Parts: sequence; C-alpha cells; structure tokens
Amino acid sequence: MKLKGRTALVTGGSRGIGRAVALALAEEGADVAINYVSSEAAAVDVAQNITKMGRRAILARADVSDYPDTFRMAQDVLAEFGHLDILVNNAGVNSDKTFVKMDHASWRKVLAINLDGAFNCTKVFIDQMLKQSYGRVVNVTSVIGQIGNFGQANYAASKAGVAAFTKSLAKELAGKGVTVNAVAPGFIETEMISGIPEKVRSRLLEQIPLRRFGTPEEVGRAVVYIVSSDGDYITGAELSINGGLLM
Ligand code: NAP
Repeated sequence: MKLKGRTALVTGGSRGIGRAVALALAEEGADVAINYVSSEAAAVDVAQNITKMGRRAILARADVSDYPDTFRMAQDVLAEFGHLDILVNNAGVNSDKTFVKMDHASWRKVLAINLDGAFNCTKVFIDQMLKQSYGRVVNVTSVIGQIGNFGQANYAASKAGVAAFTKSLAKELAGKGVTVNAVAPGFIETEMISGIPEKVRSRLLEQIPLRRFGTPEEVGRAVVYIVSSDGDYITGAELSINGGLLM
C-alpha cells in the first residue's frame, strides 16, 4: 500500500470525481476526511466504504467558498487526525450561460467555489504542512480552463485561475517539502456532465481520440500516483486526463 499512515482530505468527496479520489486514496492505505456541502447521505456512504476497507473516514462538512466555515472544518479535521498530509481541492460547480446572458451572481458563485475554495482550503492547512515539512496538494482543474468553452466563461476562468495558483504555490513551497500539482480532466462521466444533450455528446466524442469519456476512477488513480512516493519529483504539473482531447 502506497499511502499507509497518510491522512487526506478530499473536498467535494461525496460524489463524482471526489468520491472516486477518496476511495482510491483509502484503497492505498490513507485515512480520509470527506468534505461535502449538502449531500450528507452520499458522504456517509463514501465514509462507510472506507471504513469497510479498515481505514478511518471522517465527515468534514463545509462550504469551501466560506473561509470561516472552511477554517472551522480544518480545526475539526486536525483535531481528529492530528495532522494532514494530502489535500485534494476537488469541489467545483458550473453555471453555464453565454457571456451576454451570464449575470454577476453566476460569475461570483463559480469563482467563489472553484477558485476561492482552492485558496481557502489550502490556506487553512498550509501552516500545519509546513510545520511537518511534508504536504501533497492536488487541485482539480479542467481541460476547459486550458481551451475555454462556449457558455463557460466563468468556469474556464476559475479553472485557469486554479492552474496558475498551482504553479505559483509549487514554486513557493518546493523547498519546504510540499508539492502542489493539478489534474486536468477532460469529460468525465459524473452528474456535472449528465445534462449534456445526446447530439452534443456525439460531437464531443468525435473530438476525443480515445472516443469515450473518462471515468472518475481514472482520475482517482492519477491523484494516487501524484501523492504517493511515485510522484515525489513532480511539482507544478497539470496532468491531462482527457483521452487526447487536448495535446
Ligand atoms: P459533481 O459530481 O457535481 O460533484 C461536485 C462535488 O463538489 C460534490 O461532492 C459537491 O458536494 C461538491 N461541492 C459543490 N459545491 C461545494 C461547496 N461550496 N463546498 C464544498 N463542496 C462543494 O462534480 P464532478 O464532475 O465530480 O467534479 C469534481 C471536480 O472535477 C470539479 O472541480 C469539476 O470542475 C472538475 N471537473 C469535472 C469534469 C467532468 O467532466 N465531470 C471535467 C473536468 C473537471 P455535495 O455533494 O454536498 O453537493
């Protein structure tokens, strides 16, 4: 097991990619805190699956866009686990509209959860990681942050922001035992993309050389690779998991 004795927190660990990341980390031996904001039953289900593997799992409810709430969550997690080794900033939302129809509230919501959320969660754990001279931070960005997308100006801007945040932090923390990386999924089968109409899905598939969407588990395995000792020499990277959509 590659992560025996490690502790991790996955934001948005209740569903989709976050759920798969939390389970993949636990399969490799990590104890995992599952952050969520509203899907309590789903988070409990992830925790039960992890407990069945013989690992510790704790629920860590907080709205990552709310700094005081996130700070309180971090105190609870550190009180339970004693320390945190791995932070996966995965929580994210979209609110798609063409720019002309996009209102300020929709812009703010997506930026607050996707970009401020990564800042807030990293901020509340970084001192402790620096104190132990060890930390692994993985931010979930998106191919959309790399290429932009019709109707996703807010989402694309948030993800490009997280990618730049990743690289800056990687430079600041490299000498201190903390690596900071991103994974950039393409289209992954979760609730987030379940609303894409069939016609658009077919058109997207034609643009993906591997001719399929990815699975949350494929993202989970990439995160394990980065945060285990296999990834010790990787920092500031943005690993594409997109079936070749962007090369
Ligand atoms: P999802 O199935 O919709 O799950 C979103 C997760 O984020 C849920 O666990 C949700 O918690 C949590 N969340 C939302 N707002 C939150 C908040 N304010 N505070 C804390 N948690 C919050 O989405 P997904 O597809 O797994 O996406 C996960 C990440 O991957 C996102 O950052 C997304 O942008 C990125 N991504 C996804 C794709 C894709 O194709 N699916 C592609 C590229 C990147 P609740 O369950 O409590 O609501």
